[in-house]
Amino acid sequence: MDLGIRGKKAIVCASSKGLGFGCADALAAAGVELVMNARGSEALEEAAAAIRARHGVNVVTVACDVTTPDGQAKVLAAGEGADILVTNAGGPPPGLWSDWDRDDFIRALDANMLTPIALMKAALPGMIDRGWGRVVNITSQSVKAPIPALGLSNAARTGLTGYVAGTARQVAQHGVTINNMLPGIHDTDRAVSLDGNVARQQNISVEEARARREATIPVRRYGTAAEFGAMCAFLCSAHAGFIVGQNILLDGGATNATI
Ligand code: NAP
Repeated sequence: MDLGIRGKKAIVCASSKGLGFGCADALAAAGVELVMNARGSEALEEAAAAIRARHGVNVVTVACDVTTPDGQAKVLAAGEGADILVTNAGGPPPGLWSDWDRDDFIRALDANMLTPIALMKAALPGMIDRGWGRVVNITSQSVKAPIPALGLSNAARTGLTGYVAGTARQVAQHGVTINNMLPGIHDTDRAVSLDGNVARQQNISVEEARARREATIPVRRYGTAAEFGAMCAFLCSAHAGFIVGQNILLDGGATNATI
């Protein structure tokens, strides 16, 4: 399917690896020019080079922490005039409800709620002026069904979801859509690190931890970054203009809910 976005320009945050990389790669496959970002420049340059080689699109890299005001300013400057914005950043650490103090919550809110909001506030006016835009926020399945050990993530991402629910309906009349993608367990560094936590807590091997987590997913495997990216590219496509303010769960059926 031709996604109808060849030549558009996208900012894809936190995209040297994992789900962000999957989104960047799928958008590039559709002919979209990219601004890619991550903190570590080595992996970022490698990822950008791989995408340039594979898809022949222009890729600008911005190595910075996108959760800081300075990082956001750099990413936005490189992505001036972006038609597509994919927000993403690392997730907060796991723990117990009693572990976290105010500073932990402020860090989580900054990274996973206020950063995407700041990026949207900056990018939306241009999209509205041009009468076309797509925003996809990478959140988590924890927005639909809480993951008890990820209380910081549950809290921050649910806040973002509430903001998007209203804002998406305010900007839709200008041809701009905002949607969220909710990953379940995907085969990325983040998932491997969570496997390690489970292994330590339950005193089992990492392989056993993974097997137990896979058994909780109806498809009996982790998702891939490529599958995730394909959905992102579709949500950013010319065909997705009627999809507004939705929370798209990509979890292999793991969330046991009727709707
Ligand atoms: P990942 O494989 O660890 O990749 C994270 C990417 O983001 C890397 O490129 C990393 O590069 C970059 N990054 C992290 N923090 C950043 C920051 N502050 N500024 C700029 N770049 C940053 O993680 P993932 O699995 O793709 O997860 C992406 C998001 O989805 C996370 O918020 C995660 O919590 C959420 N999620 C993931 C899963 C899953 O199963 N994978 C499930 C639910 C939710 P640098 O480290 O070099 O910055």
